[in-house]
Amino acid sequence: MAESDATAAGVEPVIGLEIHAQLLTDTKIFCGCRTRFGAAPNVNVCPVCLGLPGALPVLNRRAVELAVRAGLALGCTIQRRSIFARKNYFYPDLPKGYQISQYEHPLATDGELVYVADDGPHAVRIIRVHLEEDAGKSLHTAISDGDRHTQLDFNRSGVPLIEIVTHPDLRAPREAADFFARLRVILLAIGVNDGNMEEGSLRCDANVSVRPAGESALGVKVEVKNINSFRFLQRALAHELVRQTELLGAGGHVVQETRLWDEVAGRTVSMRSKEEAHDYRYFPDPDLPPVEVSDTWIADVRATLPELPEARKQRFIRDYGLPAADAAQIAETEELARFFEDTAASAGNPRAASNWVMGEVTRRLKVEGAGIEAVGVTPAALGGLIRLIDTGVINRSAAKDVFERMYGSGREAGDIVRAEGLSQIGDEGELGDVVTRVIAEHQDAVARFRRGNEGSLGFLVGQVMRATRGRANPRMTNELLRRMLTDREAAPRTDE
Ligand code: ADP
Ligand code: MG
Ligand code: ZN
Repeated sequence: MAESDATAAGVEPVIGLEIHAQLLTDTKIFCGCRTRFGAAPNVNVCPVCLGLPGALPVLNRRAVELAVRAGLALGCTIQRRSIFARKNYFYPDLPKGYQISQYEHPLATDGELVYVADDGPHAVRIIRVHLEEDAGKSLHTAISDGDRHTQLDFNRSGVPLIEIVTHPDLRAPREAADFFARLRVILLAIGVNDGNMEEGSLRCDANVSVRPAGESALGVKVEVKNINSFRFLQRALAHELVRQTELLGAGGHVVQETRLWDEVAGRTVSMRSKEEAHDYRYFPDPDLPPVEVSDTWIADVRATLPELPEARKQRFIRDYGLPAADAAQIAETEELARFFEDTAASAGNPRAASNWVMGEVTRRLKVEGAGIEAVGVTPAALGGLIRLIDTGVINRSAAKDVFERMYGSGREAGDIVRAEGLSQIGDEGELGDVVTRVIAEHQDAVARFRRGNEGSLGFLVGQVMRATRGRANPRMTNELLRRMLTDREAAPRTDE
């Protein structure tokens, strides 16, 4: 019964992404115009990126290098020879009447992104990574008289992009959003893209279909265009899956089309059907020679690739014994990872180092709204603090106090401990005096403990901590209290 239900209701989502990432170059892909975001409209333009007749494109070498970098990081084969084509269509923000993009012969092919998510290992295959230019931007504005106007800004026209196309290997909206987030982290880590989705430097088109569970043939897909947030991606896909499943359940069929996500309405809306799809009439751009990439160049680029976050995470789990969640967070950026590793080395205690980085350090940075580059303590200093804890000089609660005093002051933990008298009281005689006093002052709690109320012990420990301004060795305090309270001989006389 359950089985047949599962089959009747069982549809499998199939998702593939086409991701556009702006390459971090100073200048555009075929001209010397600047690419910086936020300039006044139509300031960064020239005859080439305005598509004026006779202007000749010249390929930006740096853009190719960054695309090779992305291809290698995604495990692709870099093609020694790739070709720019003209993709012809009419749109006001496309002054040439065609977009220059790689079509039949892309720069990089057949990659794979392998990672371990909360639910286990994943492998998403990459079909291709190719170079292309961005179009301009149309601003549809309503002027006061109610007229609708379209304004055009060509600053973005000719900005270098890579398009990364995955196989339809993703199986759920959450999985797609998680993959996209991981891809973003990689592109950031290798310095190819700034990851700024609000400014549109990273965006994706999501292709989605459903098929009966167990079926291997693909269903008819819908493409949801231009999504620039992980949340929108997840919501758009979830909505689209419900829509398609209901359609099929009602005996209908999915129409292949392009749709847009309407965040306000919370649904996708049709943009154009397959019948209305453009015939782009691709052909090789006669103004641009094939892109030649030599083996030496590829090897040079490969040699400069940093360790990628996923590999670093696995290394942190393996070499330092960090829990997966901590390892993932610390390994995400090279800066944070380096801070952690230097702290661990200085402390001689990786687990403690990761706890401090994940705890107090992250908390402080969050309060300040700053990144690790602005952290107010050096790894060596934090390592020194951890050593003071591990050697019993200070306890954990004093350590937080010391940390606060170290932070931003440049002072060393040892100096602060000496100057502020924060060292732990681990001397039985000295601590015993305090414990005796606390017992004498809290007879109610003592009586409750002797009647079997274990919780009262915690209260008494707290009182010892208070009396020592947090400096008492907690383990010794516990032991002394327990001994004095249960061993009548050793206990000070009470009224009882
Ligand atoms: P198109 O020719 O329509 O652009 P492609 O074959 O180039 O289609 O694939 C574009 C993207 O759509 C890829 O990311 C691919 O994984 C995905 N895709 C292709 N077919 C399907 C399908 N049936 N369901 C979901 N995604 C698909
Ligand atoms: Mg496509
Ligand atoms: Zn230009």
